[in-house]
Amino acid sequence: MSEENLYQVFDRCFALQGNNTAFEAPGGSVLLTYEDLRLTVGRFANALSTQGLRPGDRIAAQLQKTLGTVVLYLAALKAGAVFQPLNPAYTPVEMEYFLADARPAMVVTSTLKETAIAPLAHRFGARHLSLDGIESGSLAALATTAESHHRTCPRVQNDLAGLLYTSGTTGRSKGAMLTHGNLLSNAQALHRIWGFVPEDILLHALPVFHVHGLYVALNTAFLNGSRIIWLERFDVSDVLGELPRSTIFMGVPTFYSRLLADPRFDRAACRSVRLLISGSAPLLPETHAAVFERTGHRILERYGMTEAGMIASNPLDGERIAGTVGFPLPGVEVRIAGPDGRAMEPGELGVIEIRGPNVFAGYWRREQTRAEDFRADGFFMTGDIGIMDRDGRLSILGRAKDLIITGGLNVYPREIEQLLDALPGIGEAAVIGVPHPDFGEGVIAVVTAASGLPDEMQIIGELAKRLAGFKLPKRVYVIDEMPRNAMGKIQKNELRRRFAAAFSAQP
Ligand code: AMP
Repeated sequence: MSEENLYQVFDRCFALQGNNTAFEAPGGSVLLTYEDLRLTVGRFANALSTQGLRPGDRIAAQLQKTLGTVVLYLAALKAGAVFQPLNPAYTPVEMEYFLADARPAMVVTSTLKETAIAPLAHRFGARHLSLDGIESGSLAALATTAESHHRTCPRVQNDLAGLLYTSGTTGRSKGAMLTHGNLLSNAQALHRIWGFVPEDILLHALPVFHVHGLYVALNTAFLNGSRIIWLERFDVSDVLGELPRSTIFMGVPTFYSRLLADPRFDRAACRSVRLLISGSAPLLPETHAAVFERTGHRILERYGMTEAGMIASNPLDGERIAGTVGFPLPGVEVRIAGPDGRAMEPGELGVIEIRGPNVFAGYWRREQTRAEDFRADGFFMTGDIGIMDRDGRLSILGRAKDLIITGGLNVYPREIEQLLDALPGIGEAAVIGVPHPDFGEGVIAVVTAASGLPDEMQIIGELAKRLAGFKLPKRVYVIDEMPRNAMGKIQKNELRRRFAAAFSAQP
């Protein structure tokens, strides 16, 4: 593993590309060549330094998805700072938490958010800068007059490169400290196992405040010097317009279900595609099958998390099995552990634990509770429940925190959700546990309707043919739409809150 700044590695790849396109807009116009990118990143890095950003400082960025955000990410790396991307949808109240916890030296937002966020940044002792805008104080304006030559700040592999807050679907968001070594090793592993070649063209429609769009997609493409077709948001028509000239598309499961709803998503649309990748949330086997039928592509599903980038992937060559996430990445150790930490046998269910160069350094300012997350031998307890078969293929059964304990018995929601998803008339299903006067937790199902939704008793009756009584949902609630976070994950916290009184409200 090299002891250098990740940007230095990228810079060598960028230099090989010269005036080849780095980013292009829908329709094909060039937004930035790799040479432009190098010069712009140099200017931004100089602008950040003149504004007082020092190596090791955290720089929080609450920005929309624009190329400016990507340039800022790379400039922060180059300057040796720690990049802290934040969802642009966060309200000032939420931002207060992230700034109070991370204590960045600098906070960058769009001009539009300046009034709301600048005072907050100042309250926590940070400097606020707007990214865009023509006024002389904006970072973009400062960068136009800055030197393009900038000496990349030397970093070693254990130095922090990113502070990414977990999505907090099961609790309060925590800052995952990611090092230059974490990011480089993961990008190199993905570049290799997904067979990136210089001719690849990546269609980028993911947000860039999250590990998926920022590190998995961009870093892997940067190592390749790929051309990146840049969509500022996911839009079915835009994706369908650009897919015919792309070779790789990365998405979350909802991207694929939305594409399937459009008849134009077919073999012709995917004629130059070599890889459709999915992750960040479970992909339904039906979606996998429907995409294969329509496009001839078997989606490659992979598994990862903020704390470790990518962990496992279905193979590029070899069988891609729906409902599984494939094999651990090269260099990544994965084991399934029981509650006492004992390693389970193949086929036995337990918590997924991981160790490897991709695994983060720990949670920011939570050193005293490290033992809650890491075993003494360095394995990180992911909190995901999984099974590994004899061949080493991994399947995810959900988050440990979503496990339901009813009358002292464990119920794994995924098992019931899979049965519900397969029932005609049900769109999607989420199974949760809510307080129950007798059982501690009672199982309920929350579903969305497709056409011909069976009634509650019919649904429970169907499940009863396959499930032990204690696993059966006692109630089935129908809602219009599942609450999701920006990466398409169903927010069970929100559902548990909404249906908390399901049993206490009963006569
Ligand atoms: P995040 O940190 O927001 O990327 O969320 C990571 C979590 O998403 C993991 O711990 C898993 O619970 C879930 N996840 C990611 N990829 C998959 C997948 N392919 N199948 C099921 N769950 C997944």
